[in-house]
Amino acid sequence: MLSIIIPVYNEGENIQSLVDELYTYTNKETEYIFVDDGSTDNTFAALELIAEKDSNIKCISLSRNFGHQNALMAGLQHSKGHTIIVMDGDLQHPPSLIPALLKKIDEGYDLVQTRRTSTKNIGLGKHLLSVVFYKFINAISDTRIEEGVADFKAFNRKVLDSILRFDERELFLRGIFSWIGFKTTTIDFKAPDRKFGKTKYSFTQMLRLALKGTTSFSFKPLRVALLAGSFISLAAFAFGIFALLSYYKGNTVPGWASMIIAIMFLGGTQLLAIGLLGEYIASLFTETKKRPLYLVNKTVNI
Ligand code: UDP
Ligand code: MG
Repeated sequence: MLSIIIPVYNEGENIQSLVDELYTYTNKETEYIFVDDGSTDNTFAALELIAEKDSNIKCISLSRNFGHQNALMAGLQHSKGHTIIVMDGDLQHPPSLIPALLKKIDEGYDLVQTRRTSTKNIGLGKHLLSVVFYKFINAISDTRIEEGVADFKAFNRKVLDSILRFDERELFLRGIFSWIGFKTTTIDFKAPDRKFGKTKYSFTQMLRLALKGTTSFSFKPLRVALLAGSFISLAAFAFGIFALLSYYKGNTVPGWASMIIAIMFLGGTQLLAIGLLGEYIASLFTETKKRPLYLVNKTVNI
């Protein structure tokens, strides 16, 4: 049996065409798990209507908006299939790719990742941020996280059971999927533009995800801060000796500029290091609280 998991947040306009397309590319042995991530539009009503006619359409409605990654986890925890597909609900992950994904699973791959080849219309800011983020994270992390890899994948039970063993609050599933290993392959697809609605990942949300991805997959940024801090402190110390020597030699200089530069530079790096430390402490904080990843308000056909 196949489970298709789709987190949806205010995708009311997309639901019907998505379900129609899904029916075209899947057979009767499929459960469709929609996770309504606290939508404020008619998403849940639209889903309920369709679910009345087909018991394979299942809905989990979360008590509020918990974010894409957590919604995905809710779906994963409720899925029953031998093969699992996760995808977005905005038709940017074309259901027509499903047969190709399943073919790779049949060929013996445990995990089939997909990569977007067209990223037009995502905005310069988001594009730059994503390029910088992937370059940065791959430079500092031991786990390679490929750029453009979408949250559109197929995998088997074995992979799902491995993913479910992760008990992390600061979920960064993209990283986890490349961390777990297993026999993996990647296929490319062209992401069409959104038909309705607009992206729910704002620039700040992307930034938050990027930070989450960085601090949950590497301790090296801490080391960078430490190294840079030590180096700059040493340089400042040497400069201090130099200044003292000049003073005794009698070449006292006004020195205001160099002083202010040193102060600002040191202050800056210190703040940077403290901020970085703060990120790690914040994630420790959320981890130790062990709050649930999501809360369910209602379910249909589950
Ligand atoms: N989504 C969600 N919760 C959120 C934000 C988004 O469940 O808080 C869903 C959204 O409905 C869509 C998928 O996650 O099905 C991807 O979101 P979006 O298309 O906005 O992201 P983008 O494709 O722009 O990266
Ligand atoms: Mg999208």
